[in-house]
Amino acid sequence: MNILVINAGSSSLKYQLLNPETQEVLAKGLCERIGIDGKFTYKPTGKEAVKEADVAMPTHSEAIQTVLNALVDPANGVIGSMDEIGAVGHRVVHGGEKFASSVLITDEVMAAIEECNPLAPLHNPANIIGIKACQALMPNTPMVAVFDTAFHQTMPPVAYTYALPYEYYEQDKVRRYGFHGTSHKYVSQRAAVMLGKPIEELKLISCHLGNGSSVTAINGGKSVDTSMGFTPLAGLPMGTRCGDIDAGILEYLMNKHGYNIDEMLNILNKKSGVLGISGVSSDFRDLEAAAPQGNQRAQLALDSFDYNVKKLIGAYAAAMGGVDAIIFTAGVGENGPDTRANVVSGLEYMGVKLDAEKNNTRGKEVDVATDDSKVRVLVIPTNEELMIAMDTAAIVKA
Ligand code: AMP
Repeated sequence: MNILVINAGSSSLKYQLLNPETQEVLAKGLCERIGIDGKFTYKPTGKEAVKEADVAMPTHSEAIQTVLNALVDPANGVIGSMDEIGAVGHRVVHGGEKFASSVLITDEVMAAIEECNPLAPLHNPANIIGIKACQALMPNTPMVAVFDTAFHQTMPPVAYTYALPYEYYEQDKVRRYGFHGTSHKYVSQRAAVMLGKPIEELKLISCHLGNGSSVTAINGGKSVDTSMGFTPLAGLPMGTRCGDIDAGILEYLMNKHGYNIDEMLNILNKKSGVLGISGVSSDFRDLEAAAPQGNQRAQLALDSFDYNVKKLIGAYAAAMGGVDAIIFTAGVGENGPDTRANVVSGLEYMGVKLDAEKNNTRGKEVDVATDDSKVRVLVIPTNEELMIAMDTAAIVKA
C-alpha cells in the first residue's frame, strides 16, 4: 500500500509518497511560499527532479492539488491514478494528553486536535489546514494523524510534572510533553533489530541531535523521560534555541533591556543555542570549521553542547538503572563523529567504549562501540516519514 506522508507548515508543505512494506520512496518534495508566490519541488525516484517557481498556490488546497497532479502526471508521475494512494499520514506536532498513539482521523479526532492548538499555536493550526485540504481533495482516502508528542505519553508523572502549583497542570495542562517522538520511536525500533533483542528487554538512550535536539530514555520500548518539555525550547542548547535556563534570567534581562515577552522569546528561540554562544553560526559544520582556526567561542559552543548531551545520558542511565545502548541520530548525530566521540568520552566507567575507526562513519546504521564495550553505541539515520507511513498503514489495515 502506498502512503502519502504530509508535513504541513504555515506556508510550506513537505510530502513523500512511499510504500512502507518495501520501504520504496516513489517521490518526494516540497511546496514553499504557499499564499505568497508558490514554489514547487518534486523528485520522482529515478526520474528528473522538477523545480517550479511562481506556481499558483494561494492556499494549502492548491499546493496539495499540485502534488497530486505531479504524482499522476503521465510523463513524470509515479502512479497511474489517485486510487494507488492507500492512505495519507499527517504529521501533527501536538496531541496533548489526548493522543498516546497515532489515530485514524474522524470528526471527533479533528475536534480533539483543535483543542490542542493552544499548546502548539505555531504548528497545530497549520497541520489542521493540511488535513482539511487533503480531506476535501481525497474524500474517500483514509487519513491518519501521527503526533510528535504521542510516543512520550508513557512518561510517568515524576518525569512530566513541573514543580509549579498543581492547578497549572490540572487546569492549564502545563507539563512536560516532549517532541521528536516519531524519530525516537523509529530509531529505538531499529536499535532492537540491530541488537537482535526484543525491544521490551532493552534500556535505550536516544540522542536526536540536529538543528533541534532532544534526548530520550526508552525503557522496554516506552519513553520514560525526555529533554524537551512543555515546548521544544527546553533541554539541550540547540542551533538557535537556548534549552534549559534559569527562568529568573527572563525577568533580569527584560527589566535591564526593556524587552517585552515577545522580544525575549525571540532571543531564546532564534538567537541563542550554539549560534548565541559562538556568534558564528547555528550550523555545526560552520562551528567545526571555525573552532580549529582558533575561534574560542565556536569551540565553547561545541563543548557546551557535547557536555549537556553527556549529562543527560548520565541522568537517563540513572533514571532507568542502566543502559544497553546509546543511539545517535539526526543531522549531527548521524554525521558528526567528533560530537559522538566527545559525548561518550568519560563514560567508560559506565561501560561505554567507542571504536574510533568504526565511529568514523556518516549517515549509515552502524554499531560504533568496541567489541568488548558493555554498552553499545549505535548510529541510526532517522526516518520520520517511514515511521509515519508504517503507523498509517498499520492503522488503516486494522
Ligand atoms: P537536522 O535538523 O537533523 O537536519 O540537522 C541539521 C544539523 O546537522 C546542522 O547543524 C548541520 O550542521 C548538521 N550536520 C549535517 N551534516 C553534518 C556533517 N557532515 N557534519 C556535522 N554536522 C552535520
